[in-house]
Amino acid sequence: MHRFSEDTVARARKVRMLLLDVDGVLTDGTIFLDNNGVEGKGFNIMDGLALTLLQKAGVPAGIITGRDSNVVTTRARELGLEILVQGCTAKLPAAREIAEQRGLTLEQVAYVGDDLIDIALLKHAGLAVSVPNGAPEAHARAHHVTGPPGGRGAVREVCELILKAQGKWDDIVARYQ
Ligand SMILES: [Mg+2]
Repeated sequence: MHRFSEDTVARARKVRMLLLDVDGVLTDGTIFLDNNGVEGKGFNIMDGLALTLLQKAGVPAGIITGRDSNVVTTRARELGLEILVQGCTAKLPAAREIAEQRGLTLEQVAYVGDDLIDIALLKHAGLAVSVPNGAPEAHARAHHVTGPPGGRGAVREVCELILKAQGKWDDIVARYQ
């Protein structure tokens, strides 16, 4: 795990829940609109598998997004995500409530965000992650900025970081052999 600082790995070890922004994190930030105004987004298949594996390993994952679209509901269902909050502009109180419902503190939560709407939550998350395509203000509050950009494996990297830091990754890989 040479790409990660010791501080980042130590924080990842304590993570008990992963929360994600959608646009610019689970996607590259592009929003497709058809003539009827129906929204489309592109998701990354390797992010998807990693999220499934993370949850199977006992770390619940979910979405907090400022926008509201059916395609996100569909993707969240496909991935079996336990948490889905859409149309949320105050992400910090929302995340705190989600954590408290599970008996967790924000110290035990990892959050990945890319823009101004994310910075309050990034500031309070135990592990704050941003993406290379993110705003400088998000980078300034992140403990780690991923190698791959949003929608291109950023979430995969974060899931692997958590699983490796917690010593769960090798067992998962072994199951595929
Ligand atoms: Mg975003």
